[in-house]
Amino acid sequence: MSDINLQKLDIDSIQAGFKSAKFSSAELTQAYLDNIKADDTNSFISINDNALAEAKEADKKIKSKKAGPLTGVPIAVKDIILVEGQSATGGSKILKNYQATYTATAVAKLKEAGMVILGKTNCDEFAMGSSNENSHFGPVLNPYDKTRVSGGSSGGSAVAVAAALAPVSLGTDTGGSIRQPASFCGITGLKPSYGRVSRYGSMAMASSLDQIGPMAKTVKDLAYILNAMAGFDKYDATSSRDKVLDYIKDIDKDVQKIKIGVPAEYFGKGINPEVKQAVEDKIKVLEKQGFEIKKVKLPYTDYALAAYYLLMPAEVSSNLARYDGILYGMCGDKGLSLDDWYKTVRSDGFGAETKRRIILGTYILSAGYYDAYYKQAQKIRTLIKNDFAAVFKEVDALITPVTPSTAFKIGEKSKDPLTMYLSDIFTVGANIAGICGLSLPIAKDKNGMPIGLQILAKPFAESTLFKLGNYIEKLKI
Ligand code: GLN
Repeated sequence: MSDINLQKLDIDSIQAGFKSAKFSSAELTQAYLDNIKADDTNSFISINDNALAEAKEADKKIKSKKAGPLTGVPIAVKDIILVEGQSATGGSKILKNYQATYTATAVAKLKEAGMVILGKTNCDEFAMGSSNENSHFGPVLNPYDKTRVSGGSSGGSAVAVAAALAPVSLGTDTGGSIRQPASFCGITGLKPSYGRVSRYGSMAMASSLDQIGPMAKTVKDLAYILNAMAGFDKYDATSSRDKVLDYIKDIDKDVQKIKIGVPAEYFGKGINPEVKQAVEDKIKVLEKQGFEIKKVKLPYTDYALAAYYLLMPAEVSSNLARYDGILYGMCGDKGLSLDDWYKTVRSDGFGAETKRRIILGTYILSAGYYDAYYKQAQKIRTLIKNDFAAVFKEVDALITPVTPSTAFKIGEKSKDPLTMYLSDIFTVGANIAGICGLSLPIAKDKNGMPIGLQILAKPFAESTLFKLGNYIEKLKI
C-alpha cells in the first residue's frame, strides 16, 4: 500500500488496484483515514466510525466477483447531506450535536453501489457562502496556498479531493457551490440538472435551486457517480422521471459533433485577465481541433445575480424556519417563554450571514414588498430560462469561466458581502434556469492557483458535459 500515490488515484485505477490485489478497499480506506487524521486544511467535520467495516464488506463483494465500478471506492460527503447515525451539522452551530435519523437517497444509492463513506465535510453554514468562511467550524484552507480560501460552500468536499483525503466527494450546488470550490481547488465538479438527483435528505437551502452533485479528480469519475445516484425518487416530488443514461458508455463517442457557444456576457468587465485568457485559449484549441464555435448572446445575464440574491434568501427564510430549537439541534433554557426560546436559540445558533439572508428573505416576501422584489425576480427567472433555451437551439454546450477570479485570500472579501456575492456571477445562471453545468481545471495563474472552465448544457444533457469535459481534460495543449 505504501507505494500508492493517493493523489493520482481515480476510480478506474482504484478498481484496477482491487482487481490486481495491489490493495484492498480496507487498506485504501485506512490510507485515506490516515490522511484525514493528518489533515491541516480543516476539511472534515466528522469521521465515519464504520468506514473500515463498510470497506471490509466491499472487499467481500470484490472477492466474490459481485463488484460494480464503485464497490469499495471511498467517498466524502458534505455535512449538509444526511447519512443515518452520522453527524449532520450543515456547518451550523444550531445543529452542532445533531445526528441524522435517515440517509439521503443520493447517498443510499451510492452505498448500494458499494461505496464507503469516509466522513462528513466542512461547508458554509447551510451552504450559504462562496469561501467556506461562514462555517461555524472555521474556514477550509486551500491546499495550493493555505492563506487562501477553498471556495464554497462545498469547500471541505473540494479540498478533500484536492488534498487526497478522498478520491471523490459529494457537494451541493444552489448557486455555484460545487463548481466554484472545484475551480478554486483544481478539481472537477458537476451541478446536475434540476431534478436529476433526488434532494431527499439534503438540508434545504433554496429548494427550487438546490442539487446534490459529485466532485472528483476527473470528468469520468463524475460520470461514474452520476450513473449511480441519478433518477426518480418517490421521496422527492421534484426529481425527474427522465431516463437516466449510461454516462460512461459513450463518453468518447461523437464528441466533435458538439456545437459550442461562447456567450460574450461571460467574458466582460470584472474578470481577472488570466482567467479570461486561459478559457479563451482553450476555446481556440478546440476550434483548431475542428469544433464548431459560435458567438452567442445571453442578454439577461446582467440580472442573474440580482434575481438569485432575491429568490434564494426568500426560500432560505422559509426553509430555515424549521430550526426552532424544538425539532432539531440546539435547545433553549428551561423556563423560557416560547418567543424567548426561539429568540435565544436562533440568535445564538445562526451565524451572521445566515441571519442576514433570513432577514432579507423575510422582507422580500412580506406584504407590500412581495410584488416589487419576489415577483419581479421570478419574472427575471423566466427571462433567463428563455435566454438559455434559445441559445441551446443553436448550440449544444456553452463554454465560460467558472468564477471571475482564482481563490482569494482568507478574510479578503468576508467583510463585504456584495463583493463576495460577485464571485457567483457566472454560476448562478445555471441554477436559475435549472440546466446542468460542469467545472474542470484547465490552468494555473501566476501564483500557482488553479483556474477552472465551465461547460453548460440544456436540462438532462449531462452526457454532453461529460463528453466535452473528458475531451478537454485529455487535451495535451
Ligand atoms: N455562493 C452562493 C451563495 O452563497 C452559492 C451557494 C450554493 O450554491 N450553495 O448563495
